[in-house]
Amino acid sequence: MTASSTPQPARRVLLAAPRGYCAGVDRAVIAVEQALEQYGAPVYVRHEIVHNKYVVKMLERKGAVFVEETAEVPPGNIVVFSAHGVAPVVHEEAKQGRLAAVDATCPLVTKVHKEAVRFAKDDFDILLIGHEGHEEVVGTSGQAPEHVQLVDGPEGAEQVEVRDPEKVVWLSQTTLSVDETMETVDRLKSRFPNLLDPPSDDICYATQNRQVAVKQVGAESDLVLVVGSQNSSNSQRLVEVALDAGAAASYLVDGAEEIDETWLDGVATVGVTSGASVPEVLVDGVLEWLAERGYADVDLVQPVDERVTFSLPKELRRDLRAEAAALGAGGAG
Ligand code: SF4
Repeated sequence: MTASSTPQPARRVLLAAPRGYCAGVDRAVIAVEQALEQYGAPVYVRHEIVHNKYVVKMLERKGAVFVEETAEVPPGNIVVFSAHGVAPVVHEEAKQGRLAAVDATCPLVTKVHKEAVRFAKDDFDILLIGHEGHEEVVGTSGQAPEHVQLVDGPEGAEQVEVRDPEKVVWLSQTTLSVDETMETVDRLKSRFPNLLDPPSDDICYATQNRQVAVKQVGAESDLVLVVGSQNSSNSQRLVEVALDAGAAASYLVDGAEEIDETWLDGVATVGVTSGASVPEVLVDGVLEWLAERGYADVDLVQPVDERVTFSLPKELRRDLRAEAAALGAGGAG
């Protein structure tokens, strides 16, 4: 039999939904755009507003200036805090630095902040499940630094020590793997049987929905391409969930230009999804790239419907440029 007569399996794409922008990211990006429109450039943004290179560059072109620390912003300017949230000390730094702040923290991260404050007030030890160094974890820990301990994955559960095993609660980063988090919780509960659960899920609806969809896609795909940046926690988790669901391979790519042609060797079904900070234009680029290589049939896999929106930060209703100018002149230093 010649190679040309060997039947080739049909090539297709399974496109996961929901994917891409969540309500918190959408709100944060629009907040920066609106601040630029209302107040003019420059508008300073502390840390990447969301973990996506394309979005950061797009906002830079419009006049946003990204900084690592609030102290880098000259007095009398406007600073936006990112969707990942900040510790109270950062709000204080902005005040001291005479800056007008717009807080674009996702309301679902704020909800976890409030839980941390409340349990700290009741003198609980708070076990925060999350990834060390992630901005959201730094912001949540900073709500009650004396009470919060980080538990980084199931192994971390073995090492943690508490003052009173009867007064312990767990909270989590919003963008974790649901399955791995429950494994960590199980291990914690085997050590602290009276460990209290959070009042409601900390892992947010968007993270959960994207994982449910990629699980379904991963089970039927040879390869799953996740569009997202390396520093995006929820995107990294999608790769892991796809592999756990049965995909032979899965890669995180910022866009079509990062796909390696050899990944397609022997692949019939390619799953595609994107992290919560990824604009759809990047997914379109990946679908075009695949279509050019024979993967033009696209089937949508949508196990969950998603309709969530958040209103914009309230600070945008004020004349922040005037406030910032007054602060910069020493008005509230
Ligand atoms: S991933 Fe979830 S917590 Fe994070 S910004 Fe989006 S909706 Fe908010």
